[in-house]
Amino acid sequence: MDFSLTSRQRLLKEAIREFMKGECDPVVTLELAKKKQFPWEIYKKAGQNGYLASYYPKELGGQGLPLLDYCLVMEEMIRYDNRIGMALSLGSIPAKTLLRFGNEEQKKKYLPRLTKGEAVSSIAVTEPNHGSDIRYLETRAERKGDEYILNGNKTFITNADISDFYTVFAQTNPDAPAYRGISGFIVEREQEGVTALDLGEKIGLRTTSSCSIEFRDVKVHKNNLLGKENHGFTYIMEALNEGRAEIANEAVGLARGVYDRALLHTKTREQFGQKIGKFQNISHMIVEMSEEIESAALLAYKAVWLIDQGKMDVATSLQAKVKCTLTAIDVSLKAMQIFAGYGLFEEQFIAGYLGDALASWLLEGTGQMQRNTVASHLLGKL
Ligand SMILES: Cc1cc2nc3c(=O)[nH]c(=O)nc-3n(C[C@H](O)[C@H](O)[C@H](O)COP(=O)(O)OP(=O)(O)OC[C@H]3O[C@@H](n4cnc5c(N)ncnc54)[C@H](O)[C@@H]3O)c2cc1C
Repeated sequence: MDFSLTSRQRLLKEAIREFMKGECDPVVTLELAKKKQFPWEIYKKAGQNGYLASYYPKELGGQGLPLLDYCLVMEEMIRYDNRIGMALSLGSIPAKTLLRFGNEEQKKKYLPRLTKGEAVSSIAVTEPNHGSDIRYLETRAERKGDEYILNGNKTFITNADISDFYTVFAQTNPDAPAYRGISGFIVEREQEGVTALDLGEKIGLRTTSSCSIEFRDVKVHKNNLLGKENHGFTYIMEALNEGRAEIANEAVGLARGVYDRALLHTKTREQFGQKIGKFQNISHMIVEMSEEIESAALLAYKAVWLIDQGKMDVATSLQAKVKCTLTAIDVSLKAMQIFAGYGLFEEQFIAGYLGDALASWLLEGTGQMQRNTVASHLLGKL
């Protein structure tokens, strides 16, 4: 077992740190968060440097890197500045179903703009009445000749008001058994009948929007069907299980970012004539944070390493997501205590990291739902 980073991984991490130092003025990134603006300028520069979706194959504009190298890049970005790092990672993750199950023509048309930082994408699964329960969807796609007619409403869709295109999941066979009647489609935001609206203020992921989308008689050509009709649920799950391992690594970035700041505060803030790190309750919190992060990171790296080996293990991906997002939440709460009054102010970053950690627990399904799946893997049929 070798736990060391390769020299490429070490150099990449150093390059990312320099990139973030140069691009992320905290005053500017706070303004972006307050105005709920996607960091387009930095996103484009990251794309030009080959940092976005670098695990995509070269013919799609990626660098053909292992997923682990990409995850280390995102971890480092998020560690430096969550407001930017989270937004950059959420530009391409939603296109995973297209990357894995789209045909060559579809992939070549839509994916290279993501790697270049010229476009973002969204995945539209969740509906007002179907959050955790997506066995059936209310959005309908009805085949008429060479087209499908799409009608329905989606909610909580990340970046839907700025994305170039969506991968939309809809019911194609309302009479099919649970999970078996859903299909995926590529829909462009500018298409007639598509309306995306920002849902408003939220406490996490503030440089990405969360939107409702209304589809009214939207015509989708059959060429924009993703893979096979009625196989959509399998595509969602397979892509999401990989995405969840990525989210685990992002959560490690959140936890490390908050830890760095808390550690510095314990070494600089003085009370009762001494650094607060000298109080045992504070120093023990720092130690617990470090313990939690190191164990979470090992699980996150293992989940992604397995994917790189072509041996994705669903339970490991899901456990990594649960463990790492809980770690990010817990570490942020401890940092809040260490910063005390200062922690409530956004300038210190801690509240923002906590908000993103809470959102990560929900992204691509709640931790509770993931534990249900892991339970079925561990316990089998009872
Ligand atoms: C910031 C943000 C961004 C998002 N981005 C996207 C996106 O881009 N695309 C997209 O499609 N969706 C997106 N989502 C939606 C996200 O996937 C859902 O919020 C999530 O799946 C949970 O659905 P819900 O919020 O409706 O909660 P509900 O399903 O209403 O769950 C409520 C509570 O009940 C629990 N629960 C429900 N069923 C069970 C069960 N069987 N066993 C145990 N507990 C259960 C849940 O864990 C939760 O605690 C986003 C959400 C957020 C917050």
